Parts: sequence; structure tokens; C-alpha cells
Amino acid sequence: MLMRKKGKLLKKPSKRTVLFKKKVCRFCIDKADKVDYKDVSKLVKFITERGKIVPSRVSGTCAKHQRKLAQAIKRARFIAILPYAAE
Ligand SMILES: [Zn+2]
Repeated sequence: MLMRKKGKLLKKPSKRTVLFKKKVCRFCIDKADKVDYKDVSKLVKFITERGKIVPSRVSGTCAKHQRKLAQAIKRARFIAILPYAAE
């Protein structure tokens, strides 16, 4: 991209407010007290395609539920219903 030193730098479009969307914890919406490790369809939304746990800053999960979610995913991995790492 070609950048000009003078003139064009003054005007900047403020699209930040439009692009940014506030994330809310899905478990808090459901008022879930604990995360079920057998509920694979729910857990797969919080792991990447490589099998890693999605960080809370990406998914918007609160700290309390992120801890429970991580534990649930690890349990699910142990009983082999979720992968440790995808090929
Ligand atoms: Zn929560």
C-alpha cells in the first residue's frame, strides 16, 4: 500500500466501534453451573480444528467457566471423545 506523508493522515475512519462486538459467556447465558464433559457437540465449539482449547479472550467465556470448560475438555480427551491433537 502506498502511504503519503502529507494530507491523508488527518482523516481516519472510525470503524472500530462497528467491527468490535462484545462477547458474552455462553455458559452464563445458559446459567450453567457446570460444564458437561460428555456433551461433545457443545465442547467442539471451544476447541480449534487442531484440537486446542480456544482462549477466553477469543471465545468470550468468563474466567469461571473457562476453568470448568478446560477441565471438561481434558476429561473428554481422557475418555477419548475429543482429540488431544489433530493430524
Ligand atoms: Zn460464564
